[in-house]
Amino acid sequence: MRFELATEPTDASFCHCSICRRLSGSAFSAFAEIPAAGLRVVRGAEQVAACRVTERLTNRFCGTCGSPLFSEHSAFPGFVYVSLGALDDDRGIVPEYHQFTGSKAKWHRIGDDLPQFEEWPDA
Ligand SMILES: [Zn+2]
Repeated sequence: MRFELATEPTDASFCHCSICRRLSGSAFSAFAEIPAAGLRVVRGAEQVAACRVTERLTNRFCGTCGSPLFSEHSAFPGFVYVSLGALDDDRGIVPEYHQFTGSKAKWHRIGDDLPQFEEWPDA
């Protein structure tokens, strides 16, 4: 499937929470917050599969290859959270902080000097 971003992200971060670790199969996920209207599936919409991960979180992934694509969280209506690894062109998007470092994988060491938040970032 193919999708495109018709708008700039409002936020980008690394998340180390247990759900992101599980969904990414790795130490953390990297994603950008995009106004939902700015995400357009241009091809293969029928390939997009959904999984309700928690009561509030729905993850969408490619039903053909399993790649994580984007997710929605009911606490943040109107936004989608796009997996940065799913972008062919990163458009210069760079995560600005780490969140949920309180539940970070013990085997992972953060090697940059970006701000770190134990849970959600301070508003
Ligand atoms: Zn997370």
